[in-house]
This record gives sequence, structure tokens and C-alpha cells, in this order.
Amino acid sequence: MPFEPSDQIQDVLRCTESSGVNPAISDSSTFTFPTPEAMNASFAGEPDAGFLYSRHSNPSTLALATALARMEGTEAALVTGSGMAAISATLLQLCDAGTEIVSSRTVYGGTYALLKNFLPRFNIATRFVNVLDLTAVRAAITPQTRVIYTEGISNPLLEVADLAALADIAHAHGLPLVVDNTFSPLILSPAMLGADIVLHSLTKFINGTSDALGGCVCASQSFIDQLLDVNSGATMLLGPVLDSLRAASILKNLHSLHIRMQKHSANALHLAQRLQDAGFKVHYPGLPAHPQHTRLTRLMNPDYGYGGMLVLDVETKEVADRLLVLMQKAQIGYIAVSLGYFKTLFSAPGRSTSSEIPLEDQQAMGLSDGMIRFAIGLDHNIERTWERLATCLEAVALRHPQTA
Ligand code: PLP
Repeated sequence: MPFEPSDQIQDVLRCTESSGVNPAISDSSTFTFPTPEAMNASFAGEPDAGFLYSRHSNPSTLALATALARMEGTEAALVTGSGMAAISATLLQLCDAGTEIVSSRTVYGGTYALLKNFLPRFNIATRFVNVLDLTAVRAAITPQTRVIYTEGISNPLLEVADLAALADIAHAHGLPLVVDNTFSPLILSPAMLGADIVLHSLTKFINGTSDALGGCVCASQSFIDQLLDVNSGATMLLGPVLDSLRAASILKNLHSLHIRMQKHSANALHLAQRLQDAGFKVHYPGLPAHPQHTRLTRLMNPDYGYGGMLVLDVETKEVADRLLVLMQKAQIGYIAVSLGYFKTLFSAPGRSTSSEIPLEDQQAMGLSDGMIRFAIGLDHNIERTWERLATCLEAVALRHPQTA
């Protein structure tokens, strides 16, 4: 049977030990042991030694992590207090001082800043490459490289990396491929394509209600054990934990992710087609004109569409700013960062979520001041949204280019 990530999530429900349809919420920071020997076994990292302390794991965070591991098809997972916590803990676990990371140059601005500004303080360097250029990826690998890092569908340019080819390159050099799958949960299953570690910001589509931050690392049991090691584990020692109440609420939202992704994707495709037909410059991987449309069609799971993110290029900062204000007034959505909310969220990434990336690097990667990133919502009547958007575009003198 083909790998079906939403079935996998739902199967987890049958594994819960209580008779409640949802796992009971764990309300303890610490856990008792029947004997001192049992506690010692837990510190020694023995499997099945029981819960120790909630910075390590607890029943609520484990229930969410188990569901996410099933969704991504990995042996194990752990959850963190934010997506950045998952990214930074993973990279710090993999890299020692004096080592290097080969990273896609089109990554979330916070990730870029971590790699470019923060990790060098610990003598961990990053070579940024265009991951669409596999020759450049190979050329960037040195004896010091410890990891290849990319996003599945990139923020904000929506480039689609060839994950299977990147995994082959990584494995030929004995390296792990780490994929941030935040933009494409269920759509891409990076571990099924060869990735070793799959990360998410749960804050976005997976939670879907813009009321919580969270992150996850989906990987082999041995890598999760390394992160949790009481002597040397990045999550155990840096402590970026997710609270039990939040873990429980995110798990409940996860169970409707497949339906939400289908609606986000259908709405984004509708608007992308309308914008394209009207002659606007739109980036959306579901459009055959997108440079990696064929690749994504080949790599993706078929049932969830091409995702809820689209980018409209209106050429200048002035027009972009006026449009953002008009769209908010027209109740198309909110001027806000983040994604996966029921309402559409929009921002100019060059001056917000990617502002950490220096201007010359933004230009090199094709990010311009006139780009607006849309995280399309769950609108019931998306044609009405298009009509509102068309009115806003006309108001900033951006008419249908064929009629202007
Ligand atoms: N990865 C991607 C692709 C993101 O867009 C973001 C946040 O915007 C993050 C990671 C970081 O996640 P968080 O805000 O939960 O720390």
C-alpha cells in the first residue's frame, strides 16, 4: 500500500492507552519511580525505563511526537517549543566547532540568520548554495561538512528542491539530509524520498489556529535519543520544551490537517490561476508555468494539492505597501507574518520574514521589494475573494495587463 500520511496520523489514535478519544493531558513536570534502580535506568537512557522529567519527555508531548513521526514515516520524533528550537537543536546536535553546513540559500529568514550570524560564534560555518543546482551542492561539500539543509518548498520563493537527488548526494558523502517541511506538511513526505531528519514549525499549518508556537524533529530513534541524552543532548540541555497543554491542543488540530491542506491548496490554486489569467506575475507551484511544477507533481503525495502559499510580484515596494493596506481593508485577510491560519495572511517578505537576509543576497536569490507573500486561508467562497482582490489591484492601478 502506498504511504498515506493522513491515515498514519489517524492510526495513532488507536494506540492511546486511556479510553478517552484524546490522550489524557499530562500535568506533571516530574515522574515517580518504584525504586532507585528504576530511576537510574532512566538516567542511563534505557528504553522503557518510564518518564523521567518533562524537559526530556512526557505522555502529552510523546503522543504528539508519535503522531508526527507516523505522519512523516520516521521511526521517532520529539516536539519543541518552536520551529526555530527544532532547527537550532538539530544543527547543534549534528555540528561541532570547526564543521560546516551546506544550506539552501532560500530558507526562512530566522534560519538564515541562525546559520549566517549565530552559529559562526561557535565556529560552525555555512556554505549557502542554490539547491536547484546539484553541481553547486556537490561542489560545496568539504571534509568538514556535517549536514545538507534545505526546505521542501522554500520560504518565500516557493522553489521545490529535488529531495530524492539531494538525499543521494548527501548519502554518497555519508551526510544526513535535513529538510524543513513547514510549507508542505502531508504534501511532501521527505523521509519517504530519502531525507534523514524532517523538521516542522508546528506554529503554521500543522496547528492551524495561530494560537501556539511549536516545532518538531522527526528522525531515527537513535537521533532522537541523541537529542534527549542527559549528558550531551541539545534539547535536553538547551531545554526548548513544548508545554503539555499546547502539545494536547496541537495534536487535536493535527487530526484535521488533511482537510485544511486540501482547502488551503484549492483556494491558492484558484487565486493563482485567476492572477495568472489576468496577466499578473504570480509564483505558485501548482501552475504548470512554475519552474518546478513537474518536479513537485512527481515528488508529492497526490491528495493534498500544491500548498497554500503563493507569491504575487507587483514590482515596487510602494505598490506592494498600498496593496497590503487595501487588501486588509477589503477583508481579504490580515497584514501578518505566519501561515496556516483560517484567514489569509500577507506580508512583503523582503522587509519582514526574510529581512534578516542581506539585500544583495535577496537579489541574488530573486527576492524583490515588490513581492507579496500570501498564506491563503480557508475561505468558503474563494471566487468572492478573487473579486475583492481584483478590485484592490485595480485601485493601485494594476489592471489586467491585456486591457490596461
Ligand atoms: N521554518 C519555516 C519555513 C518558517 O516559515 C518558520 C517561521 O516563520 C520557521 C521555520 C520557524 O518557526 P517558529 O516561528 O515556530 O520558530
